[in-house]
Amino acid sequence: GGGRPSPYLDKLNPEQRRAVETVDGPVLVLAGAGTGKTRVLTTRIAHILATGRARPGEILAVTFTNKAAREMKERISGLVGPSAEGMAWLGTFHAIGTRILRRHAELSGLRSDFTILDADDQIRLCKQIIQAEGLDDKRWPARQMHSLIDGWKNRGLTPDAVPLGEARAFANGRGADLYKAYQERLRVLNAVDFGDLLMEPIHIFRSHPDVLASYQERFRYMLVDEYQDTNVAQYLWLRLLAQGNRNLCVVGDDDQSIYGWRGAEVDNILRFEQDFPGAAVIRLERNYRSTGPILAAASHLIGHNEGRLGKTLFTEHEDHDAEKLTVASAWDSEEEARAIGEEIESLQRKGKSLDEMAILVRASFQMREFEDRFVTLGLPYRVIGGPRFYERREIRDALAYFRVIVQPADDLAFERIINTPKRAIGEVAVKTLHDTARARQIPLFQAAIELTQTEELKPKTRTALKDLLASFGRWRSELDRLTHTELAEIVLDESGYTEMWRMDRSADAPGRLENLKELVRAMDDFESMASFLEHISLVMDTENDAGSEAVTIMTLHAAKGLEFDTVFLPGWEEGLFPHQRAVDESGQAGLEEERRLAYVGLTRARQRIFVWFAVNRRVHGMWQSTVPSRFLDELPEAHVEVREQGGYGGYGGYGESRFDRVEPFSSTYSTPGWERAQRRKAGGAQRSREPMTIEGELVAKSVADHEPAFAIGARVFHQKFGNGTVSAVEGNKLTVDFDKAGRKRVLDSFVQKT
Ligand code: ATP
Ligand code: MG
Repeated sequence: GGGRPSPYLDKLNPEQRRAVETVDGPVLVLAGAGTGKTRVLTTRIAHILATGRARPGEILAVTFTNKAAREMKERISGLVGPSAEGMAWLGTFHAIGTRILRRHAELSGLRSDFTILDADDQIRLCKQIIQAEGLDDKRWPARQMHSLIDGWKNRGLTPDAVPLGEARAFANGRGADLYKAYQERLRVLNAVDFGDLLMEPIHIFRSHPDVLASYQERFRYMLVDEYQDTNVAQYLWLRLLAQGNRNLCVVGDDDQSIYGWRGAEVDNILRFEQDFPGAAVIRLERNYRSTGPILAAASHLIGHNEGRLGKTLFTEHEDHDAEKLTVASAWDSEEEARAIGEEIESLQRKGKSLDEMAILVRASFQMREFEDRFVTLGLPYRVIGGPRFYERREIRDALAYFRVIVQPADDLAFERIINTPKRAIGEVAVKTLHDTARARQIPLFQAAIELTQTEELKPKTRTALKDLLASFGRWRSELDRLTHTELAEIVLDESGYTEMWRMDRSADAPGRLENLKELVRAMDDFESMASFLEHISLVMDTENDAGSEAVTIMTLHAAKGLEFDTVFLPGWEEGLFPHQRAVDESGQAGLEEERRLAYVGLTRARQRIFVWFAVNRRVHGMWQSTVPSRFLDELPEAHVEVREQGGYGGYGGYGESRFDRVEPFSSTYSTPGWERAQRRKAGGAQRSREPMTIEGELVAKSVADHEPAFAIGARVFHQKFGNGTVSAVEGNKLTVDFDKAGRKRVLDSFVQKT
């Protein structure tokens, strides 16, 4: 310290202060959520600037999102004034990588105006290469090739460095060759993909020591937030830059590593201490964000993980009026959204700001129910980290199909899906359609019909178009015969649209499939396809006024680093959270990553948390009873208040869970979804269908569609509880004494007579 006034240091505790003032040499801050890691980084930058150790352009600071970068810049400005605006190297790895690569493009065989391909373009390129190599692109899907290459790049592997075994596994042993061809092709196109934004600078640094030296000199100080979620390529890149002056400070929390599925490696934390011997390792243990009960709950839950570096956390929060965590259950997800909506309105009446409330979901499909509910309530909300549910690409595509069925003259909808999935109706054909439509002043769909009767289009295109038109004719004729949800499923299947995403190997494809299923579930609440579409157009019309207060809806993954007074955590059910896919694909490691995600969710809250689960979930129109998430049982009883509600009796959960007998929330004035479904069943059009399973989120297989009447004393079989005897009947709910599981209340559609 040079004796200059530095008021920003007064706002830190001694360990934080040490992390800020240990300016030279490597520093690793390893600390739990809410301990001020991000505050340390911000203050450290302010300190470096204020003490004249570096100019704004000489500090490299990496954040996880662009939003976080903007906020950090604002905070620094708040501490040291406008000079922070000159921080040209504050951003995400991608943003900084792009900047470096543009300056040295020629060293990578690129021009500085190179384009960054989006995922769609990358996949298209893969497909061209697969075909050019004479391979069958059905057997070796482009999306799989793309995700392989992406994974290799995350690990910093060039085509020559790919392990033989992995390269052999694709395309009859030609995986690495295809990767090489892909890179060559990118160069011809003067293009890069996301992975290249780091891989190419690494390559340049390694092959041009002078360039590396110039950056090592330029970046006098380097800082990285959310270090636990860096991947190997990012680590290599950092290490190269930091090996000059070694002034690298990273902050992270191994318990918040939640991007393993995208190639992040917690081991980078361990590697840091090896590669930068003598690094100062600073632990922060005081949590400034959350109340005692919240912290205790989060710590207790994460204590169930084995692979941990181990940390302690405490708070000096004034605890007398701290609220316990609330755990509550709803009959189904619609009731869950309704109950949370009521809770939000009640908090609002007590003067709490909507800006300080967040709903954090595990899977994006869960957002739909909340968005619908909030639109009905007129409750402002914003969706962060992705488009709102009905604006998602897969949802817009699906809706476009439905719109053409209901309204064939809907040109925009027709054009959207005419070649989605790909069906040999290319740009030239679409242009011909447009010309015809314009010349004859008819809708595109009509023009398409007429064109299939001429020789104007190529035979292959004509056949494809004929097929599509015939399909639409068939679907339209089914409008009156099938329920609109059945028709919707059929359309998505027969058009090849669902298949397109099923073949997709990219990380977001499973989520998109879930969203499509959720879309069909949403339709169930409406009388017809037309009334559903009308509802959608109203929902889409509600503008999110950025200026006004609003509840935040986002995924747990996107919530990293943020904080809110009140956090709602819905959908804590086995199969959804922990997510079945994570557990299936990565076993124990997958489960632990899910638990870290739960930890991230809990630690976002300052004052109060509401955890919810629905006791029934609808899968393909069929009701399934759920099992409460194991994470609920991992919350310490002393800090949790289980909310009992009137309404329904108990439900059939797992015998072992203490949340078994939680009374599900149900409002008296609503018609729960299951009841509507029963009504429709009683009177509506029926088509017998095999019960379908749903990948990923299937919790318990429901028994087939059947509606036998049950008598007291009847012997029944339940998928989860086994055999039992009916002891009471009340509407569609049965009380059954199960031979092993004891007395349970279950829905009649879940049991079979034996
Ligand atoms: P996460 O792991 O969730 O990213 P973090 O460790 O980065 O958390 P911060 O977001 O920096 O934690 O800090 C959490 C909250 O505590 C913020 O509101 C911050 O302003 C506040 N805080 C941090 N340090 C102090 C301090 N010394 N005095 C008062 N408040 C503090
Ligand atoms: Mg942080």
